[in-house]
Amino acid sequence: MNVLTPRDLPELFAALQAPQAQLLAGGTDLLVRLRAAQATSGQGPQTLVRLDGISALRGVERTPDGCLRLGAACTHAELLAHPLLRAELPELAAALAELGSPPIRNMGTLGGNICTASPAGDTLPPLVALGAEVELISTLGVRRMALADFITGPGRTRLEPGEVLAAALAPPRPEFEVRRFEKVGRRSALAVAVVSLAALLRLERGRVPRVLEARLAWGSVGPTVWRCPEAEAALVGQRLTLGALGRAAAIARAQVQPIDDLRASAEYRRQVAGNLLLRLAML
Ligand SMILES: Cc1cc2nc3c(=O)[nH]c(=O)nc-3n(C[C@H](O)[C@H](O)[C@H](O)COP(=O)(O)OP(=O)(O)OC[C@H]3O[C@@H](n4cnc5c(N)ncnc54)[C@H](O)[C@@H]3O)c2cc1C
Repeated sequence: MNVLTPRDLPELFAALQAPQAQLLAGGTDLLVRLRAAQATSGQGPQTLVRLDGISALRGVERTPDGCLRLGAACTHAELLAHPLLRAELPELAAALAELGSPPIRNMGTLGGNICTASPAGDTLPPLVALGAEVELISTLGVRRMALADFITGPGRTRLEPGEVLAAALAPPRPEFEVRRFEKVGRRSALAVAVVSLAALLRLERGRVPRVLEARLAWGSVGPTVWRCPEAEAALVGQRLTLGALGRAAAIARAQVQPIDDLRASAEYRRQVAGNLLLRLAML
């Protein structure tokens, strides 16, 4: 197998012309998959194209429309250490802090987490709750689309052949006071999410504040990140009490369609999907 290390975008697009070329970021998903495929079928890509040497895919910067542009080849540890991300995207920072372990965070990248498109990918609920977009580049140019539209199913995205995810574009949404990421796994560390929730709430000032707007995105309860407009609407106009959160949780439990798998039963996931909302009352 060849491994190519392009140093800029023209070299990257040239490298992608190689037969059966596949992009390699941190390798924490891909190398596991390739090893399993080789063991069963003896097959794999002929060429791996590394992304870590391309500065256009790295870094965190502000775009003219006020979004934070998070380079796809940034590692989770780099993002977590970035002052802009920590200050302006606290729900994403919380998710990154719980993703894998220090070695996984040092190797794994945002782009790899997005393009793996796992229902349990930890960066996905916060980015979907924020309304983030993805920036896709190819020799044909640049296109942007909502992350929620980019991921179409487990392991499936709208990435075209020859296209590379360059960045995620996240609006900071400072008007939302409550910014949370909650995750339940089978153990407290190095655990893939059994259910996760990213929650953004905009509040009216007051002793027990009323909710003006809610953006809720669950992970691991369906083929892609799941939003529940009815549960969001049930919170609007309500004071942020356990009672109001309990009513929204009941709506989420009634509508969510999780599956049984090795990690948890569908019924457990249904319960936890509601329970994670109740944690927002502990403010
Ligand atoms: C022990 C262990 C624990 C883990 N724990 C967690 C966890 O708690 N939470 C979690 O969410 N994940 C977890 N993971 C999964 C994994 O670490 C993450 O999904 C990670 O972000 C993948 O990034 P990567 O850079 O390693 O991707 P890679 O493995 O390099 O690539 C993954 C896929 O994305 C494609 N790709 C990568 N970058 C791009 C790009 N810029 N454009 C287009 N395609 C691209 C690759 O071609 C490949 O198909 C864990 C993995 C391991 C091994």
